[in-house]
Amino acid sequence: MNRRQWLQTTGAVMGAAMTTQGCTRAADQPQAPAAEPAGPDASLKLVDYQPKSMLHVPVTKIERSAFPVIDMHTHLAVASNTQGNQRQSRRAVPPADLLKVMDARNVRTMVNLTGGYGERLANNVAGLDRAHPGRFLTFTEPAWAETQRPDYANWQADELARSKAAGAMGIKVLKMLGLFLRDKDASGKDGALVKVDDPRFDPMWEQAGALGLPIGIHVGDPEAFFLPTDRFNERYEELANHPDWSFHGRDFPSFKEILEARDRVFARHPKTTFVALHVGHWAENLPAVGEMLDKFPNVHIEIGARIGELGRQPRQSRKFFDKYQDRIMFGTDAVPNGTETPQQIFGMDLYQIYYRFLETEDEYFDYAPAPVPPQGRWQIYGLGLPESILKKVYLDNALRALPAHTAPA
Ligand SMILES: [Zn+2]
Repeated sequence: MNRRQWLQTTGAVMGAAMTTQGCTRAADQPQAPAAEPAGPDASLKLVDYQPKSMLHVPVTKIERSAFPVIDMHTHLAVASNTQGNQRQSRRAVPPADLLKVMDARNVRTMVNLTGGYGERLANNVAGLDRAHPGRFLTFTEPAWAETQRPDYANWQADELARSKAAGAMGIKVLKMLGLFLRDKDASGKDGALVKVDDPRFDPMWEQAGALGLPIGIHVGDPEAFFLPTDRFNERYEELANHPDWSFHGRDFPSFKEILEARDRVFARHPKTTFVALHVGHWAENLPAVGEMLDKFPNVHIEIGARIGELGRQPRQSRKFFDKYQDRIMFGTDAVPNGTETPQQIFGMDLYQIYYRFLETEDEYFDYAPAPVPPQGRWQIYGLGLPESILKKVYLDNALRALPAHTAPA
């Protein structure tokens, strides 16, 4: 019996009781209930469900971060790089528009990770870093298209030196390794996936250390992307919207294999500084990230696009920030424009959410400016970090990893 049926039955019994007390006219007999209005539709689709929290809890708006910020993880482009490339043109925003948000939100510097190499790198450095000193830093990227040439290993190491001379402040390694980049067979057809610890990249990792260029590395993806997209998958909606984001099945390595290969790279190049992006690639498992950091003093982490994970385990996260306060960098994975990944859209809202998460003890709030949480249907809780830790996470840890960057006063 549901609540509505129970109330009706109770009403009928009360009515019956009244008749025994002397009210005998037929008109006083309980009436048959009027036709019930249509109830809620039990077949409402999950995709249409947008529940609003009824919690009455503090809402803190932080307009400016407690300390100047270096955003270690952004994707920008200058207009001259964008011909014919949709992705690039989405990222090309006049620097003045970026600076307006940066100034309002106390972001001193944005690190543009995907700066490319060669001419594209030179254009990015000219249009961002040189045009606005101290406000933008550009990283270079490996030349994936060149990986099939026989002299690639040494060529890539030399190319890093050329990139540094052209102004690159570090290197970004996208999740190409292990998941996208494939060797070609003799006829030029796609062959096996290239492993994260493929030896042809050893000279590159080593050279990065010698040149003092930190490597922002992304391998793997959320753990749930390696599982079947079924009713038990906590990222079901996201994977249903983007089936190509799934790394389950086919010839993909397992999540564990990818992380093991990554750890072999960290171990083989102890003089190279790595920034393991997205909370060391495993925000769902902070104990494992802690173990990794304990094992490899040359590795730091960054939090971009993972406050949805950190904020749903606030007690464990708070302890993690305490313990690893010298190893964690602020980043957002910000991309100007677009609607695909609301958790990454550059703008005033994005920074406000990150600051709220790090600085306040607010409870149960959205981790992305979107009607439905895009990385899983849950809400997050603020960590309320003390100023001493905030300063390290916002600024000091990044400054240490960017030796060539002299911070403006
Ligand atoms: Zn990114």
